[in-house]
Amino acid sequence: MSAVHQSITVVGAGISGLAAARAIAARGGSVTVVDRGRAPGGRMSGRRLAGRPVDLGASYFTAEFGTPFRAVVDDWLTRGLAREWTDTFAVATPDGIVDSTTGPMRHGAAAGLRSLVVDLARDLEVRQKVAFERVDPEVPTVLAMPDPQARRLVDESSPSLDRLDDGSGWDPTIAIALRFEERAWPADLHGAFVNDSPDIGFIADDGDRRGDAAPVLVVHSSPETARAHLDDPSAALPLVWEATRRVLGLSVEPIETHVHRWTFAKPRDPHDDPYLLDAGLRLGVCGDGWGGRSSVGAAWASGHSLGEAFPLS
Ligand SMILES: Cc1cc2nc3c(=O)[nH]c(=O)nc-3n(C[C@H](O)[C@H](O)[C@H](O)COP(=O)(O)OP(=O)(O)OC[C@H]3O[C@@H](n4cnc5c(N)ncnc54)[C@H](O)[C@@H]3O)c2cc1C
Repeated sequence: MSAVHQSITVVGAGISGLAAARAIAARGGSVTVVDRGRAPGGRMSGRRLAGRPVDLGASYFTAEFGTPFRAVVDDWLTRGLAREWTDTFAVATPDGIVDSTTGPMRHGAAAGLRSLVVDLARDLEVRQKVAFERVDPEVPTVLAMPDPQARRLVDESSPSLDRLDDGSGWDPTIAIALRFEERAWPADLHGAFVNDSPDIGFIADDGDRRGDAAPVLVVHSSPETARAHLDDPSAALPLVWEATRRVLGLSVEPIETHVHRWTFAKPRDPHDDPYLLDAGLRLGVCGDGWGGRSSVGAAWASGHSLGEAFPLS
């Protein structure tokens, strides 16, 4: 007689939740994904400006050859969903660009990074606009999200609670999209790491990243500036714009702006374990807070490995 598989609830339709759900489904498990947002994506989401999607979360992703995540990325590349962006970024001080740095190939997506997460949702049962409130001990559950968000959903008596960061180890970011009449920065900018600025950390050329040459920049604030403006993120706009203008020597003003707050953007010191699994309670937690480093690829790997280990019955 075969064991009856109870349906597993995955909370979070970011990349880690969908990786977990796909791995569970691939093993024959029954799984439902729920997310409070309007569409899958999580921190790989964006927003449409002038009818075109703009990435407001992750700037790009990398994928090491030979890893399981690389196979997923190769499939996206083959199907034209992901694209190679650049291996080179400018390096700037608050007063301007001073150098460039070359590293691994960074990837983007022509339709925005969210489109890749939407692709992972194919063939799965995903319910959006569902705000999950509490883990039911009778229902096997995966929480695929930042620790501080998962903590709120776990019972106070759960032994897992103490292993979850309360948010003090996570940095916020305010992302600001700036749309211009035309491109007014160097064609080979791609993006810029900004060092020693109190207000900004990274500038991305969104038109270059997405491959349509739209005159759009996305700037990520420093954690300090984000923390100081969490209650009123729009108030960070003048600071972030002034810092960006100075770095790129821009004399034109943006014609449209959009401000987005990420309260829990990145963990400073992710857990070394790939995920948390309480097999007895059938409760798991995954995401970029696990596996030693915070990145899109690490979040996918955390969800995928938890989905492979999660008890089906
Ligand atoms: C500004 C910024 C820049 C970044 N830059 C990069 C980069 O350049 N390169 C890179 O590799 N990574 C980058 N990252 C990190 C990358 O975005 C994350 O590692 C990855 O997207 C995390 O995926 P996840 O599935 O773990 O979590 P998330 O994407 O956060 O997904 C969690 C999901 O859970 C849902 N959720 C939470 N609570 C509930 C609830 N109670 N009920 C229902 N649903 C709930 C949320 O709506 C969300 O969709 C960046 C992140 C940010 C914010």
